[in-house]
Order: sequence, then structure tokens, then C-alpha cells
Amino acid sequence: DVAREVLTWDAFGQASRDLAQEVVDDGFRPDLILGIARGGLLPAGTISYALGIKNLHVINVEFYTGVNERLEMPVMLPPVPQAVDLSAKSVLIVDDVADTGGTLQLVRDFCTEHVADARCAVIFEKDRSAVKCEYVWKRTNDWIDFPWSDKPVITATS
Ligand code: 5GP
Repeated sequence: DVAREVLTWDAFGQASRDLAQEVVDDGFRPDLILGIARGGLLPAGTISYALGIKNLHVINVEFYTGVNERLEMPVMLPPVPQAVDLSAKSVLIVDDVADTGGTLQLVRDFCTEHVADARCAVIFEKDRSAVKCEYVWKRTNDWIDFPWSDKPVITATS
């Protein structure tokens, strides 16, 4: 059995506040927060509240099909945000984890085509990540269990 890093809902709440504090202390004031669906949606939401930034967008990227099972390349799923959505000068890209970093690299490269300053915030970053995120809550190389995806999908009772 592989070692696991378990994130509880409580720790997720603290991680969100800590990451927002890192961003503020760094003097970074993003015009827009871009969450990478689906894993980045939850931290993007909590960080947007913690920073008081209502300009929150979502980009949908698919890469993983199971525990350590990946597609060959991360793919951006439609609708891809329009350039007009990214008329902002600075963007904070938020995801749950930078693992290979492939997902964040795809999104950051997409953003830097449109905006001057694109920075990344993640709850976890692994050593092998191709993208070195500006804001990281915790470093680990284990498979992470997130509280929103570690339980089976709900099925009808009875
Ligand atoms: P990357 O492109 O950096 O390899 O991984 C991107 C996405 O894969 C993450 O946003 C996450 O949804 C999923 N992923 C990667 N590593 C893990 C992990 O250790 N645990 C879980 N639950 N998902 C992961």
C-alpha cells in the first residue's frame, strides 16, 4: 500500500487562510482568481473569500483518471475562458496540488499569453512538479486524499 497524505476539512480551512495570508504578505493583489476544476474549485472559493476578491473564474482541465493514472497530456475542456475574461493584469491560479505540474503549466502558459502577472497557489506541491508555485501550503511526495474526493459518489438509499 502506498503512503498517503490525508487532508481533513479542518486542515483545508486552515490551509486556505494560510495561503491567502502568504499572498497578502507577498504584496500580491490579483485582479482575478482562476480555479482549475475540479480540484482547484474548493481552494479557489475559500481563497477568494479570504482575499475579498469576487472576480473568480474557472478553467476545466482533465489529466488524471485514477490514483497515479494519467492521460498522456493534460487537456483543457471547453468552454476555454475568453481573452476578455482575462483582461485582468494579474491572475492568481489556484489548484489543489502541483504533482507533475503539467496541469498548472498548461494553465499558466495560457494565462501568460493574456496577462502580465500570473502566479500559482496550491495546497500541496510535490518535488517533481515542473511548475514551482509561488504559494505552497505543504510539500509532500505522497498521494493525497482530499476530503472532497476520498469518499464514494453518493448513490440512492433503499
Ligand atoms: P498534475 O498535472 O500536477 O500532475 O496534477 C494535476 C491534478 O491531478 C491535480 O489538480 C489533482 O486533481 C490530480 N492529482 C495529482 N496528484 C494527486 C494526488 O496526490 N491526490 C489526488 N487526490 N489528486 C491528485
